[in-house]
Amino acid sequence: MKIAIRTPLIHSLPLSHHGGCNVWLKMESSQPTGSFKLRSAAKICRYYAERGATAFISSSGGNAGIAVAHSGRKLGLPITVVVPESTPARAKQLIEQEGARLIVHGKVWSEANDYARSLATDEVIYLHPFDHPLLWEGISTIVDEVISDGLKPDAVILSVGGGSMLSGIAQGLEKHQSDHIPVYAVETPGTASFNASLNAGKLVRLDKVSGIATTLAASQVCENAFNVASRLDVRSVLVSDHEALNACRRFLDDHRVLTEPACGVSLSLLYDRKISFNPADNVLVIVCGGASVTLKGIAG
Ligand SMILES: *Cc1c(COP(=O)(O)O)cnc(C)c1O
Repeated sequence: MKIAIRTPLIHSLPLSHHGGCNVWLKMESSQPTGSFKLRSAAKICRYYAERGATAFISSSGGNAGIAVAHSGRKLGLPITVVVPESTPARAKQLIEQEGARLIVHGKVWSEANDYARSLATDEVIYLHPFDHPLLWEGISTIVDEVISDGLKPDAVILSVGGGSMLSGIAQGLEKHQSDHIPVYAVETPGTASFNASLNAGKLVRLDKVSGIATTLAASQVCENAFNVASRLDVRSVLVSDHEALNACRRFLDDHRVLTEPACGVSLSLLYDRKISFNPADNVLVIVCGGASVTLKGIAG
C-alpha cells in the first residue's frame, strides 16, 4: 500500500518565460496531504511500524503533523500530535480530520515538543518534524523520480525551514551523481536560520522568527542541513514576505494550484528573476505545497 505517491513533473511555460530558462515543477503539492512531508512521514512511520511500533507521537502543528497523522491512519496505528497554543485552528482541524488525537500544550513549539518527547516509550515512537535520517531518505525519492522521468537538472530551487528538504534533496543528488549542480535554498528574512548559519560559519539559533512563512519558522536548521552546505554548492537566497505572497497568487493563476508562502519563496526566484540562469538550463523547482493555506489567506 502506497502512502506517499509519485508526483507529476511538469514543464512550466509561464515560469520558464519569467525565469528565462527551462523550468520543471515537481508537484509535491499533489501529495494526499498537500506537501512533500508525506514522503518523510510515511518512510519513518513504516520503518518503525515494521519493527513493532504501536503508536506515534509528533509535535508539529504544520504539514509534518498532518503527514504523520495521515501515515498513522493508513498504517492503522494511533497518532497523537502535541501542538502549542499558537497553532492556527485550520491546522488543528486538518490534524483531527486525519483521525489523530490532538493535545494542546505549551506556548511555543519547543514546549509542545518536550512534552511529546516525554510521552514516548519503546513502542510509542516520538517523531521529530525534520531532524532524522529516515525523513531525509523519504524525501530523497523526489530526485529518484525526477531522474527516472528523464530529467537531469542543471539547478534545483527549494525552500528551507528546518532543513529536511535540503537534506533529502542533497542525499538524492549525491545518489545520482548530480551533487555538483547549484542548489538554491530559499527563506524569508524573518525565518532565515539557514542563511544566518551560513554567514556565521556555524549553526546559529535565531532569537525570534517572524513573518508570513510560518512553515519555514524553525529557529535553527538541523545540523545535517548545515553540513550539506559544506559538501554541495548550496546558495542561500532571501525573498520578502510580499514577494512570496505575490508568487503564490501568480502560481495560482498560472497553474491553478494553491500553495503556502513557504512554497511561494521558491517560486519567487523565477517570477521575480532573482537569479540569471542560462536560457538552456533545466531548473528544477520543488513545489513543496503546504496544506494550511486558503484562498482568503493569500488574498491581497
Ligand atoms: C516543511 C515544509 C517546508 C520546509 O521544509 P524543511 O524540511 O523544514 O526545511 C517548506 N514548505 C512546506 C510546504 C513544508 O511543509
